[in-house]
Amino acid sequence: MSGLSIAIVGAGIGGLTTALTLARQGHSVTLIERRPGFSEVGAGLQLSPNASRILVKLGLGPALRRVATLPERVVVRGISSGRRIGEVALGPYMQQRYGAPYWVVHRADLQTILLDAVRSEAAIRIVTGRKVEEVQDGPEHAQLVWTSSNGTHERLTADVVIGADGVWSKVRRAVGDTTSPIFHGYIAWRATLDRKSAPPELAGNETGLWLGAKGHVVHYPIFSGHLINVVAIEKAKEPVDGWAAPGRAEELLSHYSSAAPALRALLQQPQEWLRWSLFRHPIRCLAQGRIALMGDAAHPVLPFLAQGAALAIEDAATLGAVLAKQPHNVAEALAAYGNHRLERVRRIQAEGRKNGRIYHSGALVSFWRNKIMQMIGPESMSNRYDWIYGFHTPE
Ligand SMILES: Cc1cc2nc3c(=O)[nH]c(=O)nc-3n(C[C@H](O)[C@H](O)[C@H](O)COP(=O)(O)OP(=O)(O)OC[C@H]3O[C@@H](n4cnc5c(N)ncnc54)[C@H](O)[C@@H]3O)c2cc1C
Repeated sequence: MSGLSIAIVGAGIGGLTTALTLARQGHSVTLIERRPGFSEVGAGLQLSPNASRILVKLGLGPALRRVATLPERVVVRGISSGRRIGEVALGPYMQQRYGAPYWVVHRADLQTILLDAVRSEAAIRIVTGRKVEEVQDGPEHAQLVWTSSNGTHERLTADVVIGADGVWSKVRRAVGDTTSPIFHGYIAWRATLDRKSAPPELAGNETGLWLGAKGHVVHYPIFSGHLINVVAIEKAKEPVDGWAAPGRAEELLSHYSSAAPALRALLQQPQEWLRWSLFRHPIRCLAQGRIALMGDAAHPVLPFLAQGAALAIEDAATLGAVLAKQPHNVAEALAAYGNHRLERVRRIQAEGRKNGRIYHSGALVSFWRNKIMQMIGPESMSNRYDWIYGFHTPE
């Protein structure tokens, strides 16, 4: 088969994984990124088995194993009481049940590993500092226009255009969706701290999840276990300005003024916090003609199931599968991609919202939530998500 020409807009985790997948199948890929270079926010990422299985298949297992950590469990506690509510089995249990690990990694480590693999593929051309402004579909090919940093416009034609350009996607308009994302009412604070400076009871090889009516906190070791990544969720009426806006530690601590002493001690450690406003965007269309959307461009999710990047990785593998099956009919292949993904991504979006309601429930509901978590045990807590973690790329 002679390969297709494929333009991928956006070189985040989704765009990089897609470029690698499609180049390995013999297509020639142009990966277009608006940023002048590659940098990643100093934060962590949980890579559940549905995503790690795909990355291992791409040959990235050895590199990931060197930098990832494998937390043994999630320990769930009440934010104010500090009491242990329940556990979710991770570590060897996940590996055995799903045949793939539940890793946690530093985002920069994952990006470096993907980027190294992408750069070693001769069929991938990376162009940075180019902002895609417009994408148009056509019967013979699709076309896109980008602006360079010096203001010049350039045109590119391709057999397929994939929008991996994140929640504020420009490519989305080309599949007929002109609506804007809506603020979800949450701000995520992220920071890292030296593991040695964490309270000893929170420095183990486990993920901590603290639940409260005003928000929740997640932390886990990253960077080969040397750092702890912390995400604290705050309910808010308005979004903060900008993406990854700096936040003052005192503001976060006042939000969590009644937190248990160990958690407050952890939250006091980081010197720098960055804040993300969380947006939602109902899925209208995943593919039309020669254009497909993936990752946050297609289906942003609340991070309460840790599935945003995992879904982008699944999208990449699914795009690879449908184009391998029908390389001569791009529109049908992309329509099949949409059909494979739609129900699953909608279900995960809904499950993330449900987790938000459960995590932040008031006194009465949280009493029953805690009782149920205590009763069902760590393994059954994991098994509830068989439908997420057991994902396999369609044949
Ligand atoms: C607090 C928090 C915690 C999270 N934790 C997890 C987790 O544990 N596990 C997990 O799986 N997910 C997690 N996520 C979600 C995950 O980070 C995202 O879903 C994922 O990174 C999306 O990847 P993407 O490649 O689709 O988009 P992005 O990472 O947004 O990449 C889009 C890229 O496109 C580029 N771009 C944008 N517009 C243009 C344009 N016009 N032209 C050219 N380039 C363009 C951007 O510069 C960017 O590089 C979390 C999210 C948050 C906020």
